[in-house]
This record gives sequence, structure tokens and C-alpha cells, in this order.
Amino acid sequence: MQGLMMHGALTLGAILDRAERITPGSAVVSRGSDRAVHRGTYGELAPRARRLAAGLRDLGVPADARVATLMWNQREHLEAYYGVPARGAVVHTLNPRLSPAELAHIADHAEDEAIIVDASLLEVLGAVRSRRDFRHVIVAGGDAPHGTIAYEDLLATEDPGAPPVAQDDELAAAVLCYTSGTTGNPKGVLYSHRSLVLHAMGLAMADSFAIGEADTVLPVVPMFHVNAWGLPFACPMTGAGLVLPGRFLDAQSLLELLTAERVTFTAGVPTVWLALLERLDEAPGTHDLSALRCMLVGGSAAPMGLIEAFERRHGLYVLQGWGMTEMCPVGSIGRLPVAMADAPAEDRLAYRARQGQPVPFVEIRARHEGGAVPWDGATMGELEVRGPTVASAYLGGEGADRFTDDGWFRTGDIVTIDPTGCIEITDREKDLIKSGGEWISSVALENALMAHPSVAEAAVIAVPDPRWQERPLACVVVRPGHAPTPEELRERLSADFPSWWLPDRVEFVDEIPRTATGKFKKSVLRDRFAGGGAP
Ligand code: AMP
Repeated sequence: MQGLMMHGALTLGAILDRAERITPGSAVVSRGSDRAVHRGTYGELAPRARRLAAGLRDLGVPADARVATLMWNQREHLEAYYGVPARGAVVHTLNPRLSPAELAHIADHAEDEAIIVDASLLEVLGAVRSRRDFRHVIVAGGDAPHGTIAYEDLLATEDPGAPPVAQDDELAAAVLCYTSGTTGNPKGVLYSHRSLVLHAMGLAMADSFAIGEADTVLPVVPMFHVNAWGLPFACPMTGAGLVLPGRFLDAQSLLELLTAERVTFTAGVPTVWLALLERLDEAPGTHDLSALRCMLVGGSAAPMGLIEAFERRHGLYVLQGWGMTEMCPVGSIGRLPVAMADAPAEDRLAYRARQGQPVPFVEIRARHEGGAVPWDGATMGELEVRGPTVASAYLGGEGADRFTDDGWFRTGDIVTIDPTGCIEITDREKDLIKSGGEWISSVALENALMAHPSVAEAAVIAVPDPRWQERPLACVVVRPGHAPTPEELRERLSADFPSWWLPDRVEFVDEIPRTATGKFKKSVLRDRFAGGGAP
């Protein structure tokens, strides 16, 4: 027997309609590339998004086309998030930090028809266009050079009526984002309206980010990186205000906005928060962050020291989230379970430094060669996930080996899962070190090294070894004014790890190379120190 309820389509259009009707006054504050701050509202966002949809239609951009964006976290990008899908087309967010060759490759693969670019990124686009052109180039946030279309002109062409395409197919594609390529070539993840709406609802829940109308949210995480973790959908859905920092992501600029706009919730990768922490430590008490109730950290493991330092020295609460491009992206959240409320402080901190429990409707399991791994908090296996916010395939069918025959997605993260379902990432599959048949967690070694007062950053890689197959090698960036010896660092590690885990070699380097989304790029270190021979 079927239920007798209506089938309301879960679409981005429905989110925008609600924002316009129910919370039209909620603020959208956006910093332009000239640093000027623009103050708008959801009441203004909605008609502008519809004008964009109509403008794209008048330009001849077909429904179903891919429309790329090369933009910062700015109001026009938010308009594209809603306006392009309102045309029936797919927003393809491009990461300006990729090389022109990578961008051209991705745009080709996606068959991008048009691109909306911020004027400050025209030079980046110029380098791409010599390899791959777009039928229409639309320029926002500044002057449009000859041969391009001014964004505001496009919006001026049409009276904003209903969206050009009926918004009733929740399974239609809305957004496209490519993986950051830490594992091989970037692959396209094509989010449906439904997956984005369900993800936004998951984020807003009390035990997730608890986002509501009273919030003012500043996503530092770029809108070109997995939908800025879904915040541009969760905020209009709930009526929370948005503060978009543009291209100014340095600690001082962020502090200015966080204090001036009385931001309550912000989200970014550990590197951003480490820089902010340094700034706060330099001048404690000079910034009024009393409105800030939560700083979300994700994208890479949050060092325990970071969580502790913000809390102890500045009274700021850091919450960790884990996710992937293939998951919209949030998969788990490191909120402390009620049962641990009275646990000793160090246990609570250790728990929060893990990746946390899965959000509702994300199922998890871990497997290794021998099959399913028990949820004992000790046995390592590769994490697999499934659910309505998880990709079922990559665009073009590549990477099919990441999808299991029984319908799960292989994350490539090596984890333990404890009896409460709390995930702890111990490594990436390709970064795992297998010494004499036993696994060594490079992440655990890195965290321990980074807790040393002389160490700014550390990455641990596998190098081939004739006897043990692989052995760990630590690449260490030293803090200015410090000069630790390899013996001293090993000595420190020996307090926490068995002797066979200790890196045989320690290399001091100027910096750890990073991907365009700020993750350690260990392949470069492997090429340099291990002859590229490690897995
Ligand atoms: P991306 O698809 O670029 O967002 O990268 C996803 C990968 O980033 C995951 O598979 C993890 O390896 C890593 N990652 C994301 N969040 C975290 C986190 N909180 N802790 C550790 N690793 C993370």
C-alpha cells in the first residue's frame, strides 16, 4: 500500500522561493574584488537569480548545458548557484587555483558552454582560453572587455518572471564539481537537486551545524570547492544570513568581517584557522568574536592542538566535519555524544579530534582484504559510504572501480570505526605505509610530529625498502627560530608509537606542497624522496 502524501519536488528553486517569501530580509553581505562590501538580501537574490536564468535562455544557452563559474565567494556566484539551475542548466564551479591546462581539461570534459567569471580572474581565464574557449563569456564584478558580456547587462535583458524551466524534477542535475585529483585525474561529480536539498537539511539539524534564522554564516571554504560545503543552500533554506568574503581570505580580512558582521558560524580548512589562530594569539582580546558560536573545520584532519588552542586561549568552539566531493560533501560530524558529556577533558578533546558520527542517511562500513571490519575502534579498513547524498557514478563513467558491486562508494580513506559509529581517519589508501605486512598510519605520525613545539608542519610518506617493502619518511617544516634534530623528533614519537613505526629518515623542507584545495600533495614528496616508487 502506498502512502497518500503529495510529492513535493526537493529542488533548489523551492529553497529560493522560501527564502524570498519567508525570510526576504535576511542579509547577503558580499565583499567585492575592490574590497567594497555590498549589502543585499534574499528578497533581492531571488529575482536576480531568475533574471540570470532568463538572460541565459535569451543568450541561447540550452537547458541541460553546463555553465562554468570562475569566481570567489561573492553574491554573483550565489546568484549563479540558483540562476543557472533555474534555467535547467548545470553550474560547473571551476577552481581558479588549478593550472590553465587542468582547467581547460576539466572544461572540455564537462563540455562547458558558457562561463561566468569575476573580473579579477580574467587573466586566469585568458590562459585557459588559449587552450579551450567558451561560447559565451560573462563578466561579473568589474568591467567586461570587448567580446564578453557584462553580467549586469545580461540581468537587465529580461523581466524576472517564472523560471524558464519548470522546477519539478528533483533528480535533474544542478551542480557539477570535479574532485581535487589527490587520487589520479579529476573526476566529475554531478549533484542532483534532491541530493543538495537533503544535504542542506542534514547540515541544518541541531546535532549537525544547527543552522537557523538567527545565524549569520561566513563560508571561508570556497564556493568552487564542493558547494562551499553546502552552506549556500542551507542558509537560504533556513533564513540564516550569509557573509561572502570574496577573494580576501587572509586572517586580518576574515577577522574584520567576523567581528563587523557578528558572524555566528564559519567554516574552512585547517590552514585558514591556523593562520587566524596565530593572528589572535598575537593580539589576544582585541577582536570581539563573542557572536561566533562555532568554527567548522574540515577538508583535512583538524589537529587536536588547534581545537584545544581556540577553546582554551580564545573561548571559541571548533567542530570537525569530514566529507568528500563525492558526498555533497559532509559525511560525518565530530560532535560530542551526550553520553560523553561528563568524560574527562582529554577524552572529550580526543573524541572531537576524530571525524565523528555519520549524518543521518549516510551509511558507513569499513572493509579490508579479509572483508568487513568490526566497529571496535582499533581495526583499520577502507571506509565505504552510501546514501542519497553520495555519488552513484562519475560523469562519463570513469573511476568505476570506486563503486562496489553492492552499491557502496569506496572513499579511499583508511579508518577505524568505534562501537558508537565514530570514524577516525588513519590514512588515505594511497598514503598508507605497509611495513613488513603491517599498516602504519602516516596521519597519526604527522599529528604527533605537529604537536612538537619546533614543528610547523609535517607530512609522512612511504619509501620503498628492500627488507620491509616500505618504511616511513617524515618531511618536516620547522618553526622559525627552532632547530630540532631528527633524533629529538624520533625520541618524541617513541613515547606514543612502537619502535617500528618511527620514521627512519627525517627530511627538513621549506614547505609541504599542497593541492589547489589545500591538502598535502604527497605525490610531490614521493617523487622527491622516494623516486615516486611508493603506492
Ligand atoms: P575532497 O573531495 O577534495 O573534499 O577530499 C576528500 C578527502 O579529504 C577525504 O577523503 C579525506 O581524505 C579528506 N578529508 C576531508 N575532511 C577531513 C577531515 N575532517 N579529517 C581528515 N581528512 C579529511
